[in-house]
Amino acid sequence: MAWSLLIRNGTVVDGSGAPARAADVAVEGDRIAAVGPGLAGEAARVIDAKGLMVAPGFIDIHSHSDLVYDKCPSAESKVRQGVTTEVVGMCSFSPAPVAPGRADLVQEWAGGIGGKIPITWNTFGEYLDHVRSLGPSVNIVQFVGHGALRLAAVGPAARPATPDEQKGMERLLAEGLDAGAFGFSTGLVYAPSVYGNTEELVSLARSMASRRGLYFSHIRGEAATLEQAAEEAISIGEQGGVPVQIAHVKASGRENWGKMDRVLRMIDGARARGVDVTGDVYPYPAGSTKMDNLLPAWMHDGGISKLLERLIDPKARQRAIADCLVDGERWRTGSGGMGWDEIMIATCSKPELAGIHLAELARRTGKEPAQAMMDLVMEERAGVSMIVFSQSEDNVAARRARAASRQAPPAQLRDVPARARGLLPREAALLLGDRGAQDDRHGRDQARPQGPRAGAGRTRRRSRAVRSGHRARRGHVPGSASPSGGHPVRDRQRPGRGRRPPLPRGAGRPGAHPSVAHAGAAVG
Ligand SMILES: [Zn+2]
Repeated sequence: MAWSLLIRNGTVVDGSGAPARAADVAVEGDRIAAVGPGLAGEAARVIDAKGLMVAPGFIDIHSHSDLVYDKCPSAESKVRQGVTTEVVGMCSFSPAPVAPGRADLVQEWAGGIGGKIPITWNTFGEYLDHVRSLGPSVNIVQFVGHGALRLAAVGPAARPATPDEQKGMERLLAEGLDAGAFGFSTGLVYAPSVYGNTEELVSLARSMASRRGLYFSHIRGEAATLEQAAEEAISIGEQGGVPVQIAHVKASGRENWGKMDRVLRMIDGARARGVDVTGDVYPYPAGSTKMDNLLPAWMHDGGISKLLERLIDPKARQRAIADCLVDGERWRTGSGGMGWDEIMIATCSKPELAGIHLAELARRTGKEPAQAMMDLVMEERAGVSMIVFSQSEDNVAARRARAASRQAPPAQLRDVPARARGLLPREAALLLGDRGAQDDRHGRDQARPQGPRAGAGRTRRRSRAVRSGHRARRGHVPGSASPSGGHPVRDRQRPGRGRRPPLPRGAGRPGAHPSVAHAGAAVG
């Protein structure tokens, strides 16, 4: 018989925990047809994987690719690292639902994270249909963003939801789950998610318990209030009766680095008393998000247009400086205190600014750093993303060792190649004990020579061929190469719910996706 693909001479690491073994892998359509040494048979395409590992596609457990699938459905930055499934809709951000007449609000809100999304939908189901029409090359596990729920049901105002608005959010969440979403996520340092109180979130969690929804929490503070914030997330899961995952577990700001151990113990303690709580981590001492998040929550009241109005007002600027500037040199928000030389511009409309610190921006412009930052956010209409070096390498090592799963940074942000493209190579380097090999600060230069579109056509053609064969069972997430234990997303079977067909997902068997060859290259 003739297979569509035969990967020969590789070392198979199948993700089950079994030792690596020499074996060939034959693929027919989107399914593994055979695994074994010296497979004999014809194949339309043969890959010689001598000296390489062959592994199942990896799952990126935390991604913001849903904000860029329109620009880059081939998901190059992920597929080339061996990622074949991504969990998206994280940190309160999702492109749906959108209330009629509020598309602009949603576009502006997501601007600094993923750029403008051409919104042509209202309901979550319509949005998922749009994603299907793009034909992304990865399998997608989509969450509903709490920020999107709030923008649709409450608007951008800084106030508690009324009972009617609360019901509205719960109805929209139920619609999202019925359409194929896996749960909801918060970003409790981002407007408007930050305006939701604990009660609101418990109620939302409770409302999805019967649909087996999951709660993904970017918690309310990763700095001074880290422990209270972790406690809140755990209690929302506990009271709501749903599993909870704490996103990118970290302690930001050097004054808070000592809290990491206590938070890890807190998660262990909750698990010991039966709460289904997990965390995810990334292997970098730097985080990445939108720069307008350096501004306090009250400035965001009313949405981006109000934020821009306040940035014109010198009194509002002075109040922001009074709230956030510590000792005249560090800028402190719920995400931690940072020096101006620890905050790097990642993307904005001026490519020449990418990669410089705010301290350098201040020098170049002759302004106070806080004013230079606020001017930049204003000029770019909040469309600036940043990298913040606010964590300790020791904590990165500690949380990698302890947390149950892995997290990735925003995908496909072309000008932050180290974070978007280097995650799994760095993870592999760390596992192999070569911590310096993929250092975040140097990774930018290493990743550049490939160019943002290198090989795009080839990957997309291959992915399409694979996708045409995908008829995945609803909600099944392919196995991960990670040897870690039970996980709420990875291990969950969520059969037969809802009316819509599933997004293209993996065939549910390790290695069903031909990007196993890429995965091999990444870790080999
Ligand atoms: Zn987040």
